[in-house]
Amino acid sequence: MTVEAGNRRIKPGKIVCVGRNYAAHIKELGNEIPENMVLFMKPGSCVTEKLASFHCGEPLHYEAEISFLYEKGRFSMAAIGLDLTKRGLQSRLKEKGLPWERAKAFDGAALFSPFVPFGGDFLHLSLVLEINGTIVQSASTDLMMYKPDQILKEITSFMTLEEGDIIMTGTPAGVGKIEENSLFRGVLKEGKAILSERSWQVSQ
Ligand code: ZN
Repeated sequence: MTVEAGNRRIKPGKIVCVGRNYAAHIKELGNEIPENMVLFMKPGSCVTEKLASFHCGEPLHYEAEISFLYEKGRFSMAAIGLDLTKRGLQSRLKEKGLPWERAKAFDGAALFSPFVPFGGDFLHLSLVLEINGTIVQSASTDLMMYKPDQILKEITSFMTLEEGDIIMTGTPAGVGKIEENSLFRGVLKEGKAILSERSWQVSQ
């Protein structure tokens, strides 16, 4: 599947995700503050436009994240993304020290609002996620332990990013289970202005 990027559609090759980038979210999941940046990947095949509450019998949890499109050596555009997680399965895999792909890299595990150009200063970006009109997640880049420019530097120190790859910068506190029939609305702001937004009605 493709993502909207300005007036184009782009098929991302890979999505590189930061885990544990907001202190309050680390606390809510009972994780330790990591010594190094936690990074994992989703293949481009995860991208969908349909928000589901279950996948292969496992309940899905949402994580709203400020997301960037990588083009020409920099973050060219930004969006709000949903990193979907099979939280129960992920906990079982983590306990056994096994990789997370089964819990994070399944089909339909990544959704995005349209990618749009932004002013270029990462520090003015923030996200808001509402479910049925109630704000459940809200955070700005100030609260990130690793800022977008540090994330880009760290990833490219050991991995080549290709045109159209996506970076998800981690989720703030307020993650939870996706309930059937609920209405999600994700908003990416720059200062007080809405840059990009999308609504998703949860299907079964
Ligand atoms: Zn995430």
